[in-house]
Amino acid sequence: MNDSGKKQENERNPVSSDPTKPSHFITEIIEADINAKKYDSRVHTRFPPEPNGYLHIGHAKSICLNFGTAQDFGGLCNMRFDDTNPTKEEVEYVESIQEDVRWIGFDWDDRLFYASDYFEKLYQFGVQLIHAGNAYVCDLSPQEIREYRGTLTEAGRESPYRNRSVEENLNLFERMRAGEFSDGTRTLRAKIDMASGNINMRDPVIYRILHASHHRTGDTWCIYPMYDYAHCLSDSLEGITHSICTLEFEDHRPLYDWILDVLDVYHPRQIEFARLNLTYTVLSKRKFIELVGGRYVSGWDDPRMPTISGLRRRGYTPESIRNFCNRIGVAKRDSTVDMALLEYCLREDLNKSAPRAMAVLQPLRVVILNYPEDAEEELDAVNNPEDPGMGTRKVPFSRVLYIERDDFREDPPKQFYRLAPGREVRLRYAYFIKCVGVVKDEKTGEVLEVQCTYDPATRGGDAPDGRKVKSTLHWVSASHALKIEVRLYDHLFTSPDPADVGEGADWKSGINPDSLKALKSCRAEPSLSGSAPGNRFQFERQGYFCVDPDSTPDMLVLNRTVTLRDTWAKIEKSQKEGR
Ligand code: ATP
Ligand code: MG
Repeated sequence: MNDSGKKQENERNPVSSDPTKPSHFITEIIEADINAKKYDSRVHTRFPPEPNGYLHIGHAKSICLNFGTAQDFGGLCNMRFDDTNPTKEEVEYVESIQEDVRWIGFDWDDRLFYASDYFEKLYQFGVQLIHAGNAYVCDLSPQEIREYRGTLTEAGRESPYRNRSVEENLNLFERMRAGEFSDGTRTLRAKIDMASGNINMRDPVIYRILHASHHRTGDTWCIYPMYDYAHCLSDSLEGITHSICTLEFEDHRPLYDWILDVLDVYHPRQIEFARLNLTYTVLSKRKFIELVGGRYVSGWDDPRMPTISGLRRRGYTPESIRNFCNRIGVAKRDSTVDMALLEYCLREDLNKSAPRAMAVLQPLRVVILNYPEDAEEELDAVNNPEDPGMGTRKVPFSRVLYIERDDFREDPPKQFYRLAPGREVRLRYAYFIKCVGVVKDEKTGEVLEVQCTYDPATRGGDAPDGRKVKSTLHWVSASHALKIEVRLYDHLFTSPDPADVGEGADWKSGINPDSLKALKSCRAEPSLSGSAPGNRFQFERQGYFCVDPDSTPDMLVLNRTVTLRDTWAKIEKSQKEGR
């Protein structure tokens, strides 16, 4: 990314403290329009994805803005597929997009539309433009059209076909539709101004010839309308009041307005806002297609992908995504939001909703020497300290346990307060245990087993004599535990700004080679048995986890959704201090 991009990254949007009530320049515009009785004080928006890929977190911002704003004002929001590009669009995408919007929490009732529903009407509008001398059939090739268009500093040249008669244009346009000409040989162009300072107004192409099957209209059409032409007219036909889109369409607004004005049809208002960019990832369907096609990830719903389906599989909740979208606000200037804020919103939600459990990711065997050989007991554990209503559960305890390998050091450094020879620690919800010996692999010196004694008087986790320990460890009972697979994730890209790879370099060179670590012999407390894909837990001290659809009846697979470490608070603090 260039310098200005870098600068923008540091100028993050102000973060709203009340995530439930978004208020920004767009809600202000809408309020003013309602007060002025514009559009009969109606509010009617639309969410217009092109079905050429799966939705991502950037789309969630647009979804929350369009559906959410309509909801807040008691208005309506349409779901509309902008399906004017048959070579890139597929039914699979049409279906996933609907599933994702519903999952985020919005509904369109019976207002599901497709730009392709309007192909006949759009064609007739084209005829109308020709009749009024506002459009012409041009025989320049795509390459020539580019050459004639001029540059930012240089006016364009008029096409030699610009002054064809209405009759000739009508005849050619009809024959384009009838399939007489091959791809790229002719276009229909709006007749505006080749000297305009805005390149979008230099006789833009509004129809092209494309002999391609469309996922909905089949082979009915071999000419397809361009986005700028189809979009404004679809908005108009649906009675949209506020057509909210991203900033890159700001320069297209004069064309939006021109088409609706010369056709003298109902005229919505286009409003642009800054698209969401997120650190450590890319947000572009085109790039995702490369990642999926090149097998850099397992699919569109790979838990490392910032797609809605990827976030869902990772364990994100719809609430956390909606809160995030409301918190980041809506502005006119491009900015990059910290991934840490998204994770913060997720923790905030999961902390309230996810039941706690104990799981050991890298098991180390612990034997309690003074605990009877075949005894076992059940201890009470709290399901969620944030919500007593979630109750308690029983966890089995026995002589052989697993703890986290990292929680033991034979030769502990200074600040290490966990288990070590001679030291006493608490096992969560259970007992104080004290390390009295280790069993090592004779050849490698690796610690195979830690030997401990327990103090029966500390049942439940407190010593009646008031003695303290410096740490509390999670654990599982070896014979009762479930063997599970856990997948740990890191950012998909190593750099906070993956687009910034340097000149000539491939953006994919920034992919993080260590973004997935699968641990295949983890152990979890038995209460997890019977969990289904999508179930979420907080594994004490390890983070939030979500059951993956790869799970089998014999082996649960869990994705780590997010760790417990909140990096956002730190970032926010340094932002406040102006660093
Ligand atoms: P991509 O670049 O990922 O292909 P797009 O803009 O081409 O995205 P569309 O299907 O045309 O994708 O998008 C549907 C709606 O979502 C549009 O109104 C678009 O402006 C909006 N949108 C897309 N990406 C973002 C983003 N990063 N932030 C906010 N809104 C977005
Ligand atoms: Mg697009």
